[in-house]
Amino acid sequence: MPRIVLLGPPGVGKGTQAKVLAQHLHVPHLSTGDLLRESVRAKSSLGEEADVYMRAGRLVPDDLVLRILRERLGRADAATGYILDGYPRNVAQANELDRIAPIDRVLSFDLPESALVVRLTQRWTCPKCGTAYNLATRPPKVPGACDLDGTTLVQRADDAPAAVRTRLAVYREQTEPLLEHYRRLGRLTPIDARGTPEQVAQRLRTALEGRS
Ligand code: AMP
Repeated sequence: MPRIVLLGPPGVGKGTQAKVLAQHLHVPHLSTGDLLRESVRAKSSLGEEADVYMRAGRLVPDDLVLRILRERLGRADAATGYILDGYPRNVAQANELDRIAPIDRVLSFDLPESALVVRLTQRWTCPKCGTAYNLATRPPKVPGACDLDGTTLVQRADDAPAAVRTRLAVYREQTEPLLEHYRRLGRLTPIDARGTPEQVAQRLRTALEGRS
């Protein structure tokens, strides 16, 4: 049962790779960012509370995120494994995950900060299916519309420059220490995140096959 975490800074391509890998392994892609954005859109009380932190580029409090994650992990399709994207984000969340659903592998990506900023500020996303486009490297076929379902693309509020700076700082301070945490546990595999999404996906598959 593949239970895999994708780790890396915002803009590194985790979401794109998680979708491809989930299809390849026939397991769901669980993104806490997507789940939180759904709660915000649904205007639930959890969503309204989370929205303030998300807009600022800060982490949503652990207990709120854990609540939506537990609910999602409890659904039937997660019983055969999953690709976790965006969780854990700090050591406390990693410990919590070990208690509720220990994971097998952690695949980590990184890129220089300047490349991340370019990827984030040029990112447009489909609000319906979550597909991410990049105006420079992966533009939609029809400007402003999702290739898959034609929905009008939007820019995430937290891809604005001030929130991007905060998100990158939060990653370096709170999430990056997880690399050492998982390295010590022998579960970490670093993946080179440079190049096209297809090149990165190929490296990811090679890394997974190499150890299975
Ligand atoms: P993402 O889509 O993974 O970039 O997440 C977008 C935003 O959702 C983050 O900047 C946080 O505000 C929030 N978020 C997502 N996952 C978590 C998490 N595991 N812990 C705390 N906040 C999170």
